[in-house]
Amino acid sequence: WIATANAVAVAGAEPIFADLDEDGNLDAESVAALVSSRTKAIIPVHLYGKMCRMNRLLEVAAGHGLKVIEDASQAFGSSYKGVKAGGWGDLGCFSLNAMKNFGAFGDSGLVVTRDAEWHATLEALRYNGALDKVNCTAPSLNFKPDTLQAALMLIKFRFFEETIKRKRMIAARYDAALEGLVETPRADADDFHTYYAYTIRTTERDRLRAFLDGKRIETRIQHAPLMAMQPPYRSARRDRLTRAEKIVGEILSLPCHDKLTEVEVERVIEAVHAFFTGGGC
Ligand SMILES: *Cc1c(COP(=O)(O)O)cnc(C)c1O
Repeated sequence: WIATANAVAVAGAEPIFADLDEDGNLDAESVAALVSSRTKAIIPVHLYGKMCRMNRLLEVAAGHGLKVIEDASQAFGSSYKGVKAGGWGDLGCFSLNAMKNFGAFGDSGLVVTRDAEWHATLEALRYNGALDKVNCTAPSLNFKPDTLQAALMLIKFRFFEETIKRKRMIAARYDAALEGLVETPRADADDFHTYYAYTIRTTERDRLRAFLDGKRIETRIQHAPLMAMQPPYRSARRDRLTRAEKIVGEILSLPCHDKLTEVEVERVIEAVHAFFTGGGC
């Protein structure tokens, strides 16, 4: 999603685009090939709630003395090898906008860090660089979520595990029913996937999408065009984006949220089967 590149550019830095692995996550080999003396940080996005292979990325970062900033917006509660999203890098950033798995009642977000100095800096940057509301230590703006929002989120947090449990059940049902027809999202034994999106891949994507639309089943393409192809970044430095370009033409997110009923899940499955076995294809 374009917000990741925009955050870099707005900070006055230059985003460089690496290729993806088969999960649509940052590919460590591609990143390693792009590192230069001007590189400051690596920013992986944990796409759809499936985490990046962080061990490989951290090796690349350590080898070049780079910071790692996780864009964990789609991965609240996800983990890889027992470590949660946001817990691998120097900083972990989460959007809590209303679409996310742990979504606020409007726009909100948070940053996590293990480092005391970064923590102090972030606390100041949160509100005009003025920690004590008198003395400004760094130029910043007002990025606080308001108290009312925070109070509601504290209550909503009690239901988070339940939401993820339900999404994971729906994903398991889709996995079992759609395997062989389309490429289903992979979750290895090391992954705790939270399915911000349940995204399949098929070379028949556009026709499948039109077919499902005809059956009043909403799908999404998350996210096209690629960040690197958006007008502000067309001349940005990049690796060959061979996998990214292939993936973006094949992805389709199926309905997967905690309010979906069993009947609705089966309707989606039947429709995908009808497309591939019946007249749709
Ligand atoms: C949602 C999202 C963001 C930022 O979202 P906001 O609406 O600005 O809170 C950033 N990165 C990714 C990957 C996202 O999915």
